Amino acid sequence: MLKVDLHCHSNVSDGVLTPAGVAAYAHQAGVDVWALTDHDEIGGVAAARVAATGLGMRFVAGVEISITWANQTVHIVGLQIDETNAALKAGLAATRAGRDARGREIAAQLEAAGYPGAYEGALAYVGNPDLMSRTHFARYLVASGACANTSEVFRKFLTEGKPGYVPHRWASLTEAVGWIRAAGGIAVVAHPGRYNFSPVAEAALLDEFKQLGGTAIEVVTGSHTPDQYAIYAEVAKRNGFLASRGTDFHAPGEARVEFDKLPPLPAGVTPVWHDWY
Ligand code: AMP
Ligand code: MN
Ligand code: MN
Ligand code: MN
Repeated sequence: MLKVDLHCHSNVSDGVLTPAGVAAYAHQAGVDVWALTDHDEIGGVAAARVAATGLGMRFVAGVEISITWANQTVHIVGLQIDETNAALKAGLAATRAGRDARGREIAAQLEAAGYPGAYEGALAYVGNPDLMSRTHFARYLVASGACANTSEVFRKFLTEGKPGYVPHRWASLTEAVGWIRAAGGIAVVAHPGRYNFSPVAEAALLDEFKQLGGTAIEVVTGSHTPDQYAIYAEVAKRNGFLASRGTDFHAPGEARVEFDKLPPLPAGVTPVWHDWY
């Protein structure tokens, strides 16, 4: 059976390893089919492809696009994209714009809460000046001793109602699915179990996604709890979505689940890679 990881981050977004470093990490973990899916960026895809194919893995060009839907942030993964597509590149550049200003606002809020110097502190962890992320602030807040780990950071800071939360309007669902399809890719709802939608809102999101030409959802992901694997397998079957699988890897030791602990897709779903090879 193919070992597939279709969701990983490099230091081109908020991971810590270079694209080639993530490829090497995935390969030593036993991955056969691997996608790099940096947030709002395809700048690492070319280097990732060279490294992955050199190691004998099958490479899938990917991206994870931040969108705002019903006033919440949702992530849409694009797989098998042509990373040279002009519409996709322009859309991602527009999505990235504003991250630096947001970072400065996050830092101003943290300073007001008694944690000065966070902009410079977070910047020390940023690998791509176009992509300052809350993850970089989280790593700084851990390193500076404000919190013991990143999950404590996201409980106490950077999220709604907490210091360092700056609401941000990302791309629309229509735009993200449109860019992915323009680039010949498959649109996938990332970690659907992680959002705080009511069942009605979740159904509306999936319905709209399908109307726009979205065809897959993540079922087994490091960003789901194990009970959500079965729940979203049912959602995929009921709605006719293909099922995707990935670790959502960001850094060694930071993993929510290591690749070899991630179970296979539940029986009865159609893997998103079913017709690729
Ligand atoms: P941003 O795109 O700048 O809003 O940052 C979002 C990133 O923060 C996600 O991709 C995750 O990597 C990270 N993140 C968000 N919530 C959590 C959490 N509860 N625990 C750990 N990482 C989180
Ligand atoms: Mn991330
Ligand atoms: Mn995500
Ligand atoms: Mn991710």
